[in-house]
Amino acid sequence: MRKPARPTHARGSRASSDVSARSSAGASESQNLRDETSRNIQWFPGHMTKARRMMEESLAAVDALCEVLDARIPCASRNPEIDRLAAGKPRLIVLNRCDLADPDATKRWKAWFRKQGFEVIETDAKTGKGSAAFPPAIRKLLQEQIERRQEKGQVGRKLRVMIAGIPNVGKSTLITRLAGRKAAAAGDRPGLTRGKQWITVDEGMELLDTPGILWPKFESRETGELLAVTNAIRAEILDREALAAGFLRRLALHYPEAVRERYRIEPEADRSGYELLEAAARKRGFLISGGEADLERMANTLLSEYHGGKLGRLTLELPPEDSDENAVSDPDFTV
Ligand code: GDP
Repeated sequence: MRKPARPTHARGSRASSDVSARSSAGASESQNLRDETSRNIQWFPGHMTKARRMMEESLAAVDALCEVLDARIPCASRNPEIDRLAAGKPRLIVLNRCDLADPDATKRWKAWFRKQGFEVIETDAKTGKGSAAFPPAIRKLLQEQIERRQEKGQVGRKLRVMIAGIPNVGKSTLITRLAGRKAAAAGDRPGLTRGKQWITVDEGMELLDTPGILWPKFESRETGELLAVTNAIRAEILDREALAAGFLRRLALHYPEAVRERYRIEPEADRSGYELLEAAARKRGFLISGGEADLERMANTLLSEYHGGKLGRLTLELPPEDSDENAVSDPDFTV
């Protein structure tokens, strides 16, 4: 796996100045928390320190950590520090949004994470598909602790789990799914309450009601692009045409059929992302005065069609051992 580098924050935007303005105006704790949950914020060192501290505090109170990832980008949607933060804590990986990911790639990712010693499940938290596998996966993960507690006669103690991940991977949706109707009551509680609040999953298991929000990583342009095309960060912070061109080239290399079918262009490997974008724009009749291709319009169309699932179920990264052949993740890739 690529070595996580120190995260840097992306180029400034209006959202970032909003956040600082609000905090300097002495906004309430809960407002700050809401700000932190927004995928639009820029992760300044202060936010990271606070998120890190909250994670550390919460981790001390739980038996296991559930790390939610976007199944389309399981590597890019991981927090760079999670291994250090969660050291020694049994971990369940949830590959969420599996409804949008390539099923074959999800299978490979599951095998890969299992090889690293994690329990893994795949979910579509939006519909709830796969979430029934959560309690048994946690029990399997904590089998030793469960047995030890039984030996000591600690039968009444519930297993406590925390859900964490970068913004917009589906943490809240998953919590709601796992908790059923109980979550709604917890979510309605205004502001921050003293002490930790727990939501019952079943008679022997509870969840911390607030997910751990972690910062995304921007270790490379590729990671930033993957986060932007999947909407984990705002695409506006990158040049949308460059983003779409890079994305189209990635698709042309790894999902040529999807490109051929949707855009009626030949996804030849020697064509640059911009050439492909231009060809797609011309096919769609997206032209500006003088007969030039309207790349901006095509870029927006491509990105929104991907978000809308119109290109099919596509995974944009494969596990490292798969990287040599049929690699979706292409480190040498240039637009
Ligand atoms: P959080 O910031 O990690 O708590 O993310 P949310 O739970 O707020 O989810 C962000 C968006 O993703 C919402 O619009 C959800 O409806 C959507 N979402 C969450 N899980 C899934 C999933 O498995 N599949 C799909 N298609 N959308 C999902």
